[in-house]
Amino acid sequence: MLIDQWTGVLERIQAACLRCKRSAQEVQLLAVSKTVPFARLAELARAGQVDFGENYIQEAVQKIEAASTQWASQPGAVLKTRPVWHCIGPVQSNKTRLVATHFDWLHTVDRLKIAQRLSEQRPAFLAPLKVLIQVNVDQGQTKSGIPPEEVLPLAQAVMGLKGLSLKGIMTMPDPEPDHARQVALHRVGKAVFDHVLQATGNPSWDTLSMGMTQDLEAAIEAGSTLVRVGTAIFGARSAVHEGAERPAPRA
Ligand SMILES: *Cc1c(COP(=O)(O)O)cnc(C)c1O
Repeated sequence: MLIDQWTGVLERIQAACLRCKRSAQEVQLLAVSKTVPFARLAELARAGQVDFGENYIQEAVQKIEAASTQWASQPGAVLKTRPVWHCIGPVQSNKTRLVATHFDWLHTVDRLKIAQRLSEQRPAFLAPLKVLIQVNVDQGQTKSGIPPEEVLPLAQAVMGLKGLSLKGIMTMPDPEPDHARQVALHRVGKAVFDHVLQATGNPSWDTLSMGMTQDLEAAIEAGSTLVRVGTAIFGARSAVHEGAERPAPRA
């Protein structure tokens, strides 16, 4: 069931790429495993899924530590490859150290202060933390992310920080049922992405994180290189967990 749903998402990505004549290699699937128990995440990792997205730092750290005992050189390891961990939730200043020491990616940089702390706290023995700037493409009042016109100056400042590799942007527009309007919103993200690439020439600027369960086809049509999918893979999350800083463990 889990594996069928995951395969179904990979097929949706392939079909969307085919429709807009893009190579399916250009679009990466991030499995959003927030609130999903470790055993289910591990089942998907064994089937070949590499990238996992988590929103709640404490919950994620527990899973990252559980995974680290189960791959590669460990006796009786069940995971053949090490999962790649993406933090896709908002990060407060007091959580930057956990992000810097445990994650491979952070999608939600929205101010220089957070990036500076991550830069100072990223251990030198780890590869640079890959970071994305979160952009608010639909002017949602309560939403995180910075307006498009503020992205270039922040990108230029973050590019100079050691321990970080600035890779692109992330967007999360409000739910919108109409496909054409979804595409229009994602084209705003694509335009910001292209503008910063042109202005900075940053050689590592290659990631446009856009699209979720409801709108991944529209995001791919607009140019997404990474879709973040939870519900279509793992099923609906219980509403109690949504928006909670630290959800209670599931029974
Ligand atoms: C939960 C979440 C997703 C996945 O959403 P689905 O609709 O379940 O696919 C993607 N991105 C972010 C930032 C999220 O918080």
